[in-house]
Amino acid sequence: MCIFCKIIKGEIPNHTLYEDDQVIAFLDISQVTKGHTLVVPKTHYDNFLTCDDETLAHLMKVTKKLANRIVDKTQAKGVNILSNTGEHAGQTVMHFHVHIIPRYDENDACIIQFNQSETQDLQTLASNIKIK
Ligand code: AMP
Ligand code: ZN
Repeated sequence: MCIFCKIIKGEIPNHTLYEDDQVIAFLDISQVTKGHTLVVPKTHYDNFLTCDDETLAHLMKVTKKLANRIVDKTQAKGVNILSNTGEHAGQTVMHFHVHIIPRYDENDACIIQFNQSETQDLQTLASNIKIK
């Protein structure tokens, strides 16, 4: 059983901030910034891409509500909402979760950087990916 399933079953202590029948949210043990929180579906889905649509919709509503609350209570200046999906994207716990990372300063411990990479043929790319 994965570590988040153990938390959901109450087998591992955590600091719960919100819970209902579908979702639990608790403080991330690493606290990249103060108030760093994880929102997790109670049913095990590996990641964002495989999560059931209804669960995902509900989880994102909870995420919005909680992110507003966290920003309000911590007086953060901004917040990153993100979900690492797959090992290559930095996912380490293979149970879908959304990070709420309050931001206080551009130089705080959360570094998200978009570097320049090779130029893409946007027309070809778009026609390949476009959902018609
Ligand atoms: P990711 O790397 O996106 O899969 O994020 C996994 C997150 O889970 C990391 O930020 C960890 O700090 C966090 N984490 C791992 N174990 C626990 C735990 N027992 N309680 C709270 N957070 C945890
Ligand atoms: Zn799990």
